Amino acid sequence: MGYVFAAPPQAVVPVSGSTDLFPVRRIYCVGRNYVEHAQEMGFCGREPPFFFAKPADAVLPVAEATTGELPYPPSTTDLHHEVELVVAIGRRAVAVSVEDAAALIWGYAIGLDMTRRDLQGEMKKQGRPWEVGKAFDFSAPIGPIRPVGQTGLITRGRIWLQVNGAPRQEGDVGRMIWNVAETIAHLSRYFALAPGDLIFTGTPAGVGPVQRGDLMEAGIEGVGQIRVRVV
Ligand code: MN
Repeated sequence: MGYVFAAPPQAVVPVSGSTDLFPVRRIYCVGRNYVEHAQEMGFCGREPPFFFAKPADAVLPVAEATTGELPYPPSTTDLHHEVELVVAIGRRAVAVSVEDAAALIWGYAIGLDMTRRDLQGEMKKQGRPWEVGKAFDFSAPIGPIRPVGQTGLITRGRIWLQVNGAPRQEGDVGRMIWNVAETIAHLSRYFALAPGDLIFTGTPAGVGPVQRGDLMEAGIEGVGQIRVRVV
């Protein structure tokens, strides 16, 4: 017995300072997880965290000191950037406690939760799933993963994004509504987390559109930087 066609390649993200690769299993994302971004999207208060997903092969790995190329996706005229701290999971767990959640963390990266805002808005209005707005090809550019042994636990630090050199997003990881440990604990009540999972932990305020030719540059203190051009 064999596959009826070649099995698709394993989605991977490079590991910082190494030739090793992190194999991606699933990509989870948290919605509205920074105070000021929740406000700019018209919400306030501490609602329970909610989650959506992207397919593993939506990753666009961007190697250290290179510029990734993000093809402008089809069927949109309002492609938005969302810079996010990405948590890479290295252990299996179900219904983990907040206290034990940090032990699941393999490392951190900087990622962009690219969003077809016009399609997402239409789906929200109709009460339909967000997939067409969030889960398209190349919708998850991500920089190299830094092992937690190098970074320590990331609980605060500046997070920013600029487009063509102009500031767009600015925040601090410490301004998350649900911190990383709480997010992992919540998520693990709904899904068995496993090595290879990536969690995009939400974006600070200042999301906005990009066009073909734009250069996005973003960084998270203690994690790294990423450069992606929209082509
Ligand atoms: Mn997001």
